[in-house]
Amino acid sequence: MDTLNFANDPEHVVEADRAHVWHHLSQHKPYETIDPRIIVEGKGLRLWDIKGKEHVDAVSGGVWTVNIGYGRERMGKAISDAVTKMCFFGGSLGTIPGAQFAEMLIDKMPGLDRVYYANSGSEANEKAFKMVRQISHKHYGGKKNKILYRERDYHGSTIATMSAGGQDERNAQYGPFTPGFIRVPHCLEYRSQNGETGEAYGHYAAQAIEDVILAEGPDTIGALCLEPITAGGGIIVPPQGYWDRVQEICKKYDILLHIDEVVCGIGRTGTWFGYQQFGIQPDIVTMAKGVASGYAAISCCVTTNRVFDMFKDDTDKMGYFRDISTFGGCTAGPAAAIENMKIIEEEDLRGNSAKMGEHLKGNLHALMDKHAWIGDVRGMGLFAGAELVTDRETKEPVDEKHIGAIVADCMAQGVIIGATNRSLPGYNNTLLFAPSLIATADDLDHVTDAVDGAISRVLG
Ligand code: PMP
Repeated sequence: MDTLNFANDPEHVVEADRAHVWHHLSQHKPYETIDPRIIVEGKGLRLWDIKGKEHVDAVSGGVWTVNIGYGRERMGKAISDAVTKMCFFGGSLGTIPGAQFAEMLIDKMPGLDRVYYANSGSEANEKAFKMVRQISHKHYGGKKNKILYRERDYHGSTIATMSAGGQDERNAQYGPFTPGFIRVPHCLEYRSQNGETGEAYGHYAAQAIEDVILAEGPDTIGALCLEPITAGGGIIVPPQGYWDRVQEICKKYDILLHIDEVVCGIGRTGTWFGYQQFGIQPDIVTMAKGVASGYAAISCCVTTNRVFDMFKDDTDKMGYFRDISTFGGCTAGPAAAIENMKIIEEEDLRGNSAKMGEHLKGNLHALMDKHAWIGDVRGMGLFAGAELVTDRETKEPVDEKHIGAIVADCMAQGVIIGATNRSLPGYNNTLLFAPSLIATADDLDHVTDAVDGAISRVLG
């Protein structure tokens, strides 16, 4: 059966999916009695499923990826032109789209110089970890090999990136993990560990990193890997004063600062990269999702020349970065990334993200005035969260089943929102909004109206 006829037979599609597809992040038992949901088409912020139902997508393809929105014909054309001319060459040769996108990207990242291509966020982070480990071997006698990561941050689904995973609920049942990854405390002001707020808390949270470094021994630590704003771990915007201190600490102990921009990169927060909101200068930056907005698979591990030059040494036979990513040689990725970046520039989607982000936060604050269940609203640009608690004084989290019910109620209304991991109690109780950067005030009002109704229905 050809694919067109297949698509014209929705029941067959659903049955084939039920019989043969293993969905990400899914318990499949319920699909014995309910149909898996199949998405058929998208345009702008809207999606249609196989039953013809329209949805407004407030999470850019579920996992905050489709920054430019669905259905862009010029993306299809750019990819088609590139792959028809030269689809792929792996290993050590370059391609025209690869060179062109690297130049465009580096132009947006003053102080950074080199782009290493891969095809997922996890993979880009693995590349960064491998660079740090090899630098340790080449320049520090193998000693400076530990990588620090933060409680609540996420860096990927592979065993090594899970070893740098700060959300324990994700790691349950997958150990043992890779040694050499050391955890530092979170920096969520709303749940301040010492009761301080503002800059005092920022300094406290940064000091907690220095304390770990001193306890481990600074000469054993190669890198500190952080999300600029913790995404799936609860939309945690670091407090004032945090980043300046973190940068100072890294400099003081000669520790590479690796910023994971897989979510925040490419306009999500209103600047090209999340770290640019905080005036810091990383040594390594990884990115994926929004790089080609999901039209093609591409990720990048970007470094300074200082990092790059540590591998330039033709006297050491094993000394170059002996790493490869087969599909890092595809031209579809960089060709899509070039077009994606042009669209973001031409339509000023960073500006729209900044402006509409304020509108979204305004709407969420208005909901907070109405529903005592909302304990905190946070975010930057079109990336926001609303944390739900049963009591604003004790900050007791709303039960995960209610969070699930709110998301499901919105889905029934045709609005797709997200929530941070809810599988363990704690602060996994945050509704999450990350619509495409084309969102209008009307779109956002529609989304928050749905949430308003859902909270009233589920929690009263
Ligand atoms: N880093 C962060 C901050 C992420 O949110 C994710 C994915 N949600 C990843 C890395 C991993 O990306 P991927 O799923 O493409 O491997």
